[in-house]
Formats: sequence, structure tokens, C-alpha cells
Amino acid sequence: ATPTALMVGTARSAKMGVLIKNGEVLQEVSDLDTVVFDKTGTITVGKPEVTDIVGDQKQVLAVAASLEESSEHPLAAAIVKKAESEKLTIEKVKEFEAIEGKGVKANYNGQIAFVGSSRLLADVNISQEMMNQADELQNQAKTVVYVGLNGEVIGLIAIQDMPKPSSKQAITELKERGLKTVMLTGDNEKVAQAIANDVGIDQVIAGVLPNEKAMHIKKLQDQGDKVAFVGDGINDAPALSTADVGIAMGSGTDIAIDSGGIVLVQNDLRGVVRALDISKKTFNRIK
Ligand code: ADP
Ligand code: MG
Repeated sequence: ATPTALMVGTARSAKMGVLIKNGEVLQEVSDLDTVVFDKTGTITVGKPEVTDIVGDQKQVLAVAASLEESSEHPLAAAIVKKAESEKLTIEKVKEFEAIEGKGVKANYNGQIAFVGSSRLLADVNISQEMMNQADELQNQAKTVVYVGLNGEVIGLIAIQDMPKPSSKQAITELKERGLKTVMLTGDNEKVAQAIANDVGIDQVIAGVLPNEKAMHIKKLQDQGDKVAFVGDGINDAPALSTADVGIAMGSGTDIAIDSGGIVLVQNDLRGVVRALDISKKTFNRIK
């Protein structure tokens, strides 16, 4: 494409809230085979809400909220908000520790407590009944966090984050254009699959630790695919830089936005389709 055609292409997309850093990025977009999406805050709204509490509700929520008070994770915000709405006392904890991609741990009134994924269950007791309940909640597309106190799981908190209303349409339109769609998430396989089914995503890669995301992008590239990654978080920055095209949500962290070649100002995945259409137009025109 001529420099002018590139300028027209990037200006056209900017009008739609799709900021493309330069003409090279626009060209990469026209060659894409696969679009990989982060889940939380990218496919979903990123404002999770507590839907169910298993166990002694007051105690489970009070312990969890006291730990999550010090966390910046979206799940933590949901738990603290729920505890506040129930007027529960949030205690000061000691020795707080955030375990990336897994959860949080702290000393709660002299006892070791944790809140997080099943990856934190190695050295604790959990009843079969509680395991079954966790399964059931995950099948409903709810993220389950386990609340542990003194070597035992005392309860579960189910949290739901709904897909953005526009996600399904964006994924349908990408598939119509022959692209493969993949979800890459740290969340549990069942939850990820339930949400993927909802929005029509082809493939799910779940249970991924934050430092593994970029490696999964590389694997897809090694199969010969040109890959875009769409994400919003601090943890997404390496994957955004590794992908052939990094696409950041405008609502994302500064580091995610800096790592992306494209920014979706409106946080709407249909922006990926717009970028694709404009790139095809820009590069066909001169043929
Ligand atoms: P995502 O890829 O969806 O952004 P993360 O990598 O941030 O997910 O987290 C993966 C999983 O680790 C979460 O689904 C949750 O089970 C657990 N987790 C991480 N941080 C916390 C926290 N502060 N409180 C509870 N659970 C957490
Ligand atoms: Mg995210």
C-alpha cells in the first residue's frame, strides 16, 4: 500500500475507536490466521459478582474479604463488595501474600488462611461434598474460589463475570472471515469452556499461569499461524508483545496499552473485525 493509503486506513479505523500504531501493524492484521483472547476484562465485562457462598456464609465471606482487602484482583473486588453489602467486619490480616495466578494467603487472627484456585489445595483437607459443589458451580460458568482456614477448606465462593454483549457478535464475524478463535485464561477449564461455548470461541487453553501466556502464543506461531492476542492486564503484556499483532483494551493497564500495536478505545471486540476489514481494503486496493 502507498503511504497515503496507509494513512487513510489508520485514520478510518481511528474514527471507529480502533487506534493502529503504524502501517506495519495494519499490514500484519491483513495476514492474520488466529485471534487469541484473554478472558477476564476482554471477552467478559471484567466486573465479577458473587453469586453463591457454600459453607457458613458469614464466616466464609468474612475470612475471604479480610484477605482480599489487600488484593487488586477483580475477584477480590467482588468479594470485598459482597462483604460490605452484608455489613460484615473486615479484619486486619498479617503476612499478606499474593500468589500470582493462584490467589492470596495471610495470617487471619493467628491462623493461616487462603483464598484462591484449586492450585492452593495441595496441603489442605476438603470434603467430597464441597468438591462436588465446586464442580456444579463451575459447570454454570462460575469461577469458584476456595476459602481455607487452619488446614481446611471452610467454604466456596462462586463468582460470575458475564460476557460483554458485543463479544459473541465479534467472534461470529471473525469466524465468518475465516479466522480461528482461541481463549487463553488462568481460570479453570470448565468455567472457560462454558464461557467459550456462550460466545462461540473455537478452542480453549485454560489453567494458564500468567508467565505462560506468551509461550502459548509462540506455540501457535510455531504451527505456522499469524497470531493476534487481545488482552487487558499487566500479565498480558508479554503475550501482547510476542503476538504478530498485540491488541489492548482501552480500559487495560498502561503496560498492556503500551505493549499493543492496536488499542480498542471502546473495549469492544468488534474493533478487531473493523481493523481486519480496513486492513484487507487497504492492501487489496493497490493490487
Ligand atoms: P485470568 O487469566 O482470567 O485473568 P488470573 O491469572 O488473574 O486469571 O487468575 C487465575 C485464577 O487464580 C483465578 O481464576 C482464581 O481462581 C485465582 N486467583 C488469582 N488471584 C486471586 C485472588 N486475589 N483471589 C482469589 N482467587 C484468585
Ligand atoms: Mg484479563
